Amino acid sequence: MIGGFVRDLLLGRPCKDIDITVLGDGIESAQAVARSLGLSHPVNVFKNFGTAMFHFEGYDVEFVGARKESYRSESRKPDVKAGTLSDDQNRRDFTINALAISLNHDDFGSLTDPFNGITDLNAGIIRTPLDPAITYSDDPLRMLRAIRFAAQLGFEIEEKSFHAIREQKERIRIISMERVSEELNKMLLASKPSVGFLLLRETQLLPIIFPEFAALEGVDTVQGRSHKDNFFHTLEVLDNLAANSENLWLRWAAVLHDIAKPGTKRYEPGQGWTFHGHEDKGARMVPRIFRDLKLPLNEKMKYVQKLVLLHLRPIVLAKSEVTDSAVRRLLFEAGDDIDDLMCLCAADVTTKNEFKQRKYRSNFELVKQKLKEVEEKDRVRNWQPPVTGELIMETFGLSPCREIGIIKNVIREAILDGNIPNSFEPAFGLMLQQGALLGLKPVKNSD
Ligand code: ATP
Repeated sequence: MIGGFVRDLLLGRPCKDIDITVLGDGIESAQAVARSLGLSHPVNVFKNFGTAMFHFEGYDVEFVGARKESYRSESRKPDVKAGTLSDDQNRRDFTINALAISLNHDDFGSLTDPFNGITDLNAGIIRTPLDPAITYSDDPLRMLRAIRFAAQLGFEIEEKSFHAIREQKERIRIISMERVSEELNKMLLASKPSVGFLLLRETQLLPIIFPEFAALEGVDTVQGRSHKDNFFHTLEVLDNLAANSENLWLRWAAVLHDIAKPGTKRYEPGQGWTFHGHEDKGARMVPRIFRDLKLPLNEKMKYVQKLVLLHLRPIVLAKSEVTDSAVRRLLFEAGDDIDDLMCLCAADVTTKNEFKQRKYRSNFELVKQKLKEVEEKDRVRNWQPPVTGELIMETFGLSPCREIGIIKNVIREAILDGNIPNSFEPAFGLMLQQGALLGLKPVKNSD
């Protein structure tokens, strides 16, 4: 039993993937073990990889023959030959990932720890078993794994390793973006995600894999006035949010909420630094960033985009007088994501000024209270206006045309502004009125 499962077992972390290395044929061993366990379901065999796995009592158990690997410079795919247990441990990325526990009859439970992995596990150190320069150059994905483990486990990367990563940073370009974002997602899910991103910055990997994020760093000063550093601010928001939500996509929204600040930054004499429209421009940047990072271009992306677009709204509300109509509009636009939006906005309050902090917090409570009241009264979350396009067409005897859109718009705006209540009769009345203004007459209903 080798690698991540042994590491997590010793750390007391839950792990459901058991890797078993055998001296001999992995596939045959898996089948023999499955038979002796009396498993009724089949063993999944991956002939090309020489591996086989089965599920057992909630665990995924994978068997592979011990192997020796050698690398060529243009690929992270090694040449693989059968090898000894020690060859197999040598090919592992970190000392803490090279630990093995014997399952053999004679020495069941004995630990093989060729690189003092236990010492590193206790000291919280990420170290490569062999020369780090070669380890990272052979497979540059290991640079991101080192940073991800540091973030996940709260470990430090050993200094030689850290320098090797910095020197080899350009090699990361041979890694597919799918692999990169898989690691980014794991860093983001750590309890303090800033750790991973700070290491990416210090190793200079960040501008290569995620240039838009790296570009947030820096402070400009004009006439003695500076703006805040948006990179460090974003990390603070991310950590604040991570303390309250495990939602990966909400964490992505935190990463991207100010992403357009560099592109919208202006110094306006008398006013200071402004970032007008950064929420709108940021939302428009989201699809490209997701595409570049090979993140899903589905409803997750749309969700992140929506939160980036709306991220200033609750704060603006909290700063001014909280009117019913502003709250109703926000509810309508955020729909079911309103609670996540509020969570993001609360995390976005990073001012160190205690007075301001207290003020924002109490205004925020007020906004939340108002959101509840308005929702109870008007039900605008997931709301559809009470008069449909079909009813407008039927009433005025219309085929699809521009006027229908105009009337629908007027009704929606009137309800959101609170000029008419959110119910059928007043909406129908406004439809007739608006139709008359457009020169439309109701047709007689044949019934
Ligand atoms: P996690 O499950 O959190 O990703 P893990 O260490 O279990 O962590 P796996 O990708 O399942 O990660 O890998 C299992 C083991 O295989 C690792 O513990 C390590 O020994 C080895 N390993 C994985 N990827 C590499 C790599 N790129 N280079 C060298 N060894 C690796």
